Amino acid sequence: MLHPSPNHGERKGRTPDAIILHYTGLPTGEAALRQLCDPIAQVSSHYLVFEDGQLLQLVPEARRAWHAGRSYWAGERDMNDVSIGIEIANPGHRGGSPEYPSAQIATVIALCQDIIARWRIAPQRVLAHSDISPDRKIDPGEYFPWEKLAKSGVGHYVAPCPLEDGPRLERGAQGIPVESLQSMLAIYGYGLNITGLYGTKTETIVGAFQRHFRPERVDGIADQSTIETLRKVIAARPKS
Ligand SMILES: [Zn+2]
Repeated sequence: MLHPSPNHGERKGRTPDAIILHYTGLPTGEAALRQLCDPIAQVSSHYLVFEDGQLLQLVPEARRAWHAGRSYWAGERDMNDVSIGIEIANPGHRGGSPEYPSAQIATVIALCQDIIARWRIAPQRVLAHSDISPDRKIDPGEYFPWEKLAKSGVGHYVAPCPLEDGPRLERGAQGIPVESLQSMLAIYGYGLNITGLYGTKTETIVGAFQRHFRPERVDGIADQSTIETLRKVIAARPKS
């Protein structure tokens, strides 16, 4: 169903090649719909999926919706130019991180499958808002069911390596192991420089990686499970 938002612009000649998944972070889907259509708020998304699975299209896919804000992925400095944004009604972390209902996820999966087929979007370009804006955003959250999506052919997923004791890298660490960690994160698409110094930026991006790929513990510390999962993710990266 259509429910047009006034908040959109030109794609500047680009075509969509990524999907960005969000949660609304508001108590109700109706409140989110009001905000996404409010000309003063200057935010929007192409789609909004309610908790009961109802789907609204707010912005045509050919137009640039305003969902991602400042963002970066794999060399692209403004993901709104090249992405389709899907807002998923969920109160978010501040609302207690309630589970996404299965009817809602079924709609998200069907919508993504359709978009992926029409625009030939690569699995590793179905991303979380937290992947592309890691210092500002934590949606759709570590409780988002990425594995379920992947089982339906949506997104890139590997089973996370189990938590275990062992050496770990954390803020303040320096040297080759940090460079190698930063390189892997950057190769995958995250926006960080290879400095060999584990500072706040690296910590934030390790946290973003965990939120998406190793959700059991999101602490910004590169433990063995995080590093092994990252290696697996890169080794399993589909050819695009
Ligand atoms: Zn978002």
